[in-house]
Amino acid sequence: MPEIKVDEVRCKGCELCTAACPKQCIVMSETFGVTGYYPAKFSKPEACTGCALCAQICPDLAIEVYK
Ligand code: SF4
Ligand code: SF4
Repeated sequence: MPEIKVDEVRCKGCELCTAACPKQCIVMSETFGVTGYYPAKFSKPEACTGCALCAQICPDLAIEVYK
């Protein structure tokens, strides 16, 4: 099953990945990350196709996709 990992140190909470995911697998965290932003969070692993659109759109290279 594909999986993504969000690097909370790199993530600036821009929400581009949540909009880009065609399966709505990513939501924003409701708690601050280590850098004071609300980081993106992988919320629906069962729906992820591993398409990597989230990683491609992230301006901070904070997402890695594992297939
Ligand atoms: S790899 Fe594709 S389906 Fe999975 S979280 Fe990223 S954009 Fe969504
Ligand atoms: S696109 Fe990147 S920086 Fe923006 S919220 Fe998603 S993981 Fe964070």
